Amino acid sequence: MKYFLVTIGCQMNDADARYVAAELERRGYAPAAQLEEANLILLNTCVVRQQAENKALARLRELAEWRARRPELRIILMGCLVGARPSPDFSTRFPFVDVFLPPSDIGPLLRFLDEQGERDRGERDRERQPAGRKAPANELPVETNDEEAVFPPSRRGEPTAGVPVVLGCSQACTYCVIPYRRGRERSRLPQDVLSEVRRLAEAGVREVTLLGQIIDRYGKDLLNSGDLADLLGAVADIDGLARVRFLTSHPSYLSERIIRTVAENPKICPVFELPIQAGSDAVLAAMRRGYTSADYRRLTDRIRSAIPHAALHTDIIVGFPGETEDQFEQSVRIVEEIGFQKIHIARYSPRPLTWAARHLIDNVPPAEKTRRQQRIEAIQKAIQTRQNAALIGTTVEVLVDGRDELRGRWRGRSADDRLVFFSSSRARPGDLIRVHIEWTGPFTLIGRDPRAGNEGPLPPALSAARGT
Ligand code: SAH
Repeated sequence: MKYFLVTIGCQMNDADARYVAAELERRGYAPAAQLEEANLILLNTCVVRQQAENKALARLRELAEWRARRPELRIILMGCLVGARPSPDFSTRFPFVDVFLPPSDIGPLLRFLDEQGERDRGERDRERQPAGRKAPANELPVETNDEEAVFPPSRRGEPTAGVPVVLGCSQACTYCVIPYRRGRERSRLPQDVLSEVRRLAEAGVREVTLLGQIIDRYGKDLLNSGDLADLLGAVADIDGLARVRFLTSHPSYLSERIIRTVAENPKICPVFELPIQAGSDAVLAAMRRGYTSADYRRLTDRIRSAIPHAALHTDIIVGFPGETEDQFEQSVRIVEEIGFQKIHIARYSPRPLTWAARHLIDNVPPAEKTRRQQRIEAIQKAIQTRQNAALIGTTVEVLVDGRDELRGRWRGRSADDRLVFFSSSRARPGDLIRVHIEWTGPFTLIGRDPRAGNEGPLPPALSAARGT
């Protein structure tokens, strides 16, 4: 039996995909190289913006056609389109879907696979076994204990993995649909997280990213279980692990204690994913983010005084209802001032049930949203070009995560999350290699491993850069 899993969306969805794949592989399913070969297709969905939802719906229409042609095919829909409490009309809207899996909950998949197993065994028994003999009970250990389960790690040997530690979200940002789809905020128990990370490390994972919508709130709903700083420290102590990351932070909850822990522990990467969303206080208030742009600036100052080399990433929404040109310019100003290393800029998209969709008019025209998005993107590109250029001639430690076969070079990330391509004759996925940087662009660094022979010719971008 073969499965094919398509994931749309965030790192949390990638982590959910890892659990599902691991469970399927434990039961004897193999990943299919192509959709055509699969007996089971899983579509993991995102609905954070209308565009993502449209993509999921388009994929679903394709799957309906596949199913019509191959009735024996089984289809599983998972992720945020399903939501924490799947709508009862789903089975009539999507009659070709066999199972609906809420985000971070593989319970319905296990039940489906058990039933499927029973049915298959029943058929085999009727065909081959003498009458009266019962099918053996399914003795595979089921490792889930409801939704806060400890899941088996993937066996695919990837050197990095995301580990959800805060599920759901109870913050009520007025634009955001996530609380309606991923349910209320709840932290997994530290012992569950630690045992999962230990197993990941034993399976060869070198870097884990602890995940949560507001990761800084980790533990606030638990008794005597510590906070994110404690969890980060305990995870960093696990043998075999080289790096720990965490995301996403919220400016109101990122504590001094967390900042200090990152500053003092060399295994915790100095990267803060700290969405600002807007530079205007009026827009921030309408988004109900709970901080002002001055609060945000103070926080980034504190991070930088504790960790001068910290990388700051952010998210910005452009074209929130009523956002004026002046207010938008305040987002531009803060981008110019702070010097982020990465920004994700989204055009506002009204989402069902959210306060903003119910009470505010989406009055910034699409073309204007695009203009605002492109304006910040251009400024940010120049900032990243400048920041990265300063790294030419320096040495950066890279965790190798794969190979770019097309160009015959290795790929990895620096501790501060820059994408690095490099040549080396000794690198293997999972290795930490010190790379000498020779060329930089806004999105990548290119270099070589000075302690090993280089393979083949220089990448085209590098030879071009040298020629000029
Ligand atoms: N919990 C995180 C991430 C939320 S989703 C946080 O607090 O930021 C990731 C990003 O998508 C958000 O940071 C936001 O910039 C963007 N986003 C969320 N809802 C959106 C919407 N309705 N329209 C456009 N962008 C949105």
